[in-house]
Amino acid sequence: MAFRRHEREGLVYFTIPSFDHTGLVRHCFTTRTGGVSSGRVKGLNLGFSRPDSRENVLENFKRLCRAVGIDSKSLVFSHQVHGTHIREVTGQDAGKGLWKDSDIKDTDGLITSSRGVTLTTFYADCVPLYFLDPVKRAVGLTHAGWKGTVAGIALETVKRMNEAFGSRPEDMLVGIGPSICRDCYEVDEPVVSRLKENMKYWRDVITPLGKGKYLLDLQSTNRMALQKAGIREENITDSGLCTMCNGELFYSYRREGKDTGSLAALLQLM
Ligand SMILES: [Zn+2]
Repeated sequence: MAFRRHEREGLVYFTIPSFDHTGLVRHCFTTRTGGVSSGRVKGLNLGFSRPDSRENVLENFKRLCRAVGIDSKSLVFSHQVHGTHIREVTGQDAGKGLWKDSDIKDTDGLITSSRGVTLTTFYADCVPLYFLDPVKRAVGLTHAGWKGTVAGIALETVKRMNEAFGSRPEDMLVGIGPSICRDCYEVDEPVVSRLKENMKYWRDVITPLGKGKYLLDLQSTNRMALQKAGIREENITDSGLCTMCNGELFYSYRREGKDTGSLAALLQLM
């Protein structure tokens, strides 16, 4: 089953049906629809470092939080660097990134077992990975671009949730969010050689195009990494959505360049 589309207060966002069914979390993946930003970042841009005003971004967050039913003071951001560091956060971290500077540096994944804290990560083609352990009541949210993916950030998140909360992979639900699809993500030799070094199943996730160019299926690469980490196939939900194919709905780095807007994933234990 794919992600579920919602329209509320003029915004469009997606949720993961298996997560909704537990009644344990509030969460979403955003789209461009319903925001006040204009120009290149027209729509619901959530990135302060983009060509946009701080007022616009704050207004977009306000609209998003109202639509999803989340207190904006509960959001926690990290500085994402395409690495594999995962940080456990608590209520004491609430507000970092939106209302005050975040001291969570060099971090691409956030985990928590604290209720009411909203893990928040940012995207424009990279793969969002949502984790929910309904047994131990813990969540994780991980930003997986190609570097983090080949360096094993999916497995790292599962390991860290196991260490921190006793989460067992076989209990965990995972969502693979909207991101660049296998028909859109063209990469070159250095990316493929890193993939070959790190992933035994590299042949299953690339399509050679000739002249040193390849298509990489980043979503499947993460799905396979998750299954190798012990996540059950039936517990993984793919969004079925490509950020590059759907220009009306999503920002895309590959389609629009570095000045494109920023999408966000939010995940909170209620
Ligand atoms: Zn695509």
